[in-house]
Amino acid sequence: MLDVYSSTITCVSQNFSPPQPPPLIPPPSSPPTVSRYELQKRRDWNTFGHYLKNHKPPLILSRCSGANILEFLKYLDQFGKTKVHNCSCPFYGDPNPPAPCNCPLKQAWGSLDALIGRLRAAFEENGGRAETNPFGVRAVRLYLREVRDTQAKARGIAYEKKKRKNVKQQQYSI
Ligand SMILES: [Zn+2]
Repeated sequence: MLDVYSSTITCVSQNFSPPQPPPLIPPPSSPPTVSRYELQKRRDWNTFGHYLKNHKPPLILSRCSGANILEFLKYLDQFGKTKVHNCSCPFYGDPNPPAPCNCPLKQAWGSLDALIGRLRAAFEENGGRAETNPFGVRAVRLYLREVRDTQAKARGIAYEKKKRKNVKQQQYSI
């Protein structure tokens, strides 16, 4: 909600204000300990807000379509850390390639999937209507499924069976 964000801003500005004696007890208005999920969700939401603002031409949240979300996901690939082999690579389908190759790094499917889940929630928490939630549209679901299948084949990984070993794939950062 909005007041969560304004309290975040207050915290940040306090960090940059001239030194003051630290309060002995936190002010009663400070939010309770925020979970990592919530923090990540706020970061993702801010990142998406910056993306909209810097988009040419600038995008307005209420007019975002599924196509804009797909564009955002593809834009994030440049920050990815997951090697996704091309069909022509000798290591295509090899989960443990013996040598480096020139295939691109992308966002892992698991990262994108979790990201969309958080942004979908954030959209509605920030006043968006569920019926117009661009993160929940069919095109985005289909795209994620395609990424999952493509990456599973390229990396020789079956996502469904290796859920517990997916920790490494969550190293996405933006
Ligand atoms: Zn490769």
